[in-house]
Amino acid sequence: MTGGLEGYDAVAEANAQKSVLAIHWSRICERLKAEVGEVEYRAWLRQITVGPVEEDEITLYLPTRFLRDWVRGQYGDRLGALWHAEVPAIRRVELQVARPSAQPAPDAVAQEASAAPAAAAPSEPAVPAVAPVAAESPRQAEVRSDLAAPLEPRFTFDTFVVGKPNEFAYACARRVAERPSSPGFNPLFLYGGVGLGKTHLMHAIGAELLRGGKVSVAYMSAEKFMYRFIGAIRSQSTLEFKDQLRSVDVLMIDDLQFLIGKDNTQDEFFHTFNALVDAGRQIVVSADKSPSDLSGLEDRLRTRLGCGMVADIHATTFELRISILEAKAAASGVVVPAKVLEFLAHKITSNVRELEGALNRLIAHANLFGRPVTLEATQDVLHDILKAHDRRVTIEEIQRKVAEHWNTRLTDMFSARRGRAVARPRQVAMYLAKQLTSRSYPEIGRKFGNRDHTTVMYGVTKVEQLMAQDPAFAEDVELLRRMLET
Ligand code: ADP
Ligand code: MG
Repeated sequence: MTGGLEGYDAVAEANAQKSVLAIHWSRICERLKAEVGEVEYRAWLRQITVGPVEEDEITLYLPTRFLRDWVRGQYGDRLGALWHAEVPAIRRVELQVARPSAQPAPDAVAQEASAAPAAAAPSEPAVPAVAPVAAESPRQAEVRSDLAAPLEPRFTFDTFVVGKPNEFAYACARRVAERPSSPGFNPLFLYGGVGLGKTHLMHAIGAELLRGGKVSVAYMSAEKFMYRFIGAIRSQSTLEFKDQLRSVDVLMIDDLQFLIGKDNTQDEFFHTFNALVDAGRQIVVSADKSPSDLSGLEDRLRTRLGCGMVADIHATTFELRISILEAKAAASGVVVPAKVLEFLAHKITSNVRELEGALNRLIAHANLFGRPVTLEATQDVLHDILKAHDRRVTIEEIQRKVAEHWNTRLTDMFSARRGRAVARPRQVAMYLAKQLTSRSYPEIGRKFGNRDHTTVMYGVTKVEQLMAQDPAFAEDVELLRRMLET
């Protein structure tokens, strides 16, 4: 079909790119099929079509939002790794929902590529492997798409479940979305561990602002910022890049920790930051640590980042995990018994992303096989995830963490010293060892300088009593437990 396009260089080039991508894609499909098996491959991956490559990112399309989310959660990382292995220049995979109306013109190679995976397709029509399709969000036009990543429509304030660990960050985000650039809230610095909702909140701010009308919002990861910046240097268009960035009303940079050690990019960000704040524009930044803990960022940047509002998102609590699971189960339309939700909230404590991934898999299986969700089915379907989360803490880890927390020496855990300053942390470590490991009292005693099992029992009881009397102490111990559990 390229025959009729002679002379149209751009079209020919685009087609050539598509053909090459289709070849790579068919190879990747073979590997995926071998890895996940025919059934899983057909259920989820066969429907992927390949979109354009932009810089280091390839876009893949799926026909529905559900499939897109599922594939992203289950295979996102793997797809990224396989593409990178095939085409080293590709470092990231962006999954989008394809507009069903888009009718791509499959070329010969594309058809060849889709012919193999289409082996047995009971209900779905064959989807061509290469599709120049537009993405779904109608808001994209208003986002500065020339310099920013599109916003994920799923990430809104409505879908964000608020609980103690994130209520402050949520309130700050809402406030910025309502009244950007208010003194005291500029910049807004959101920080917390992975998968706790930083990106979700940033997108929610963006979506809310865009709903309100004429603001231009630019959201991008710090990594993307760097690639854009380097690209601009290469193509000698840094001035244009700067102008573009400095013309937005709200600039959001996600995962700023990525800029550590990247001095030139940091410099550029610092100047952009100052120019925007001086012009009364809003900045929102996220990172995995607080500004003061982001060692490796230039001091002047750290200082400025801490000048507005700094809000942290804490690790989830059991209550929050339950609320999130309830909300997501309800939204899916699949009935998930409370017992199953509680089981998941107990087992998967690391972060919301993993929790969500586990629930999504359950829901997908329920949808696929039309079977009700039960505790037994859950244990079966999530076998591998649950196993990974069953990681048992060692007594040594507990001793180390507890000693660190109370600033005592690790050796005091085993020593014969009895002063309260060393005895109390030791007792807490014993208590946590009993709670978090399956060791018996005598076994625990041996690990604490060969103490008698009655000493361990006394220590555990003592800590329980203290926790009941002293809420601050109880909170301390709970915090340690949570740190050790994740
Ligand atoms: P981070 O950017 O902090 O690593 P994300 O914002 O990407 O985390 O969140 C990971 C996943 O968990 C997303 O799918 C997000 O929607 C979900 N999530 C996180 N926190 C919440 C919450 N409080 N309510 C609902 N979903 C949440
Ligand atoms: Mg994030």
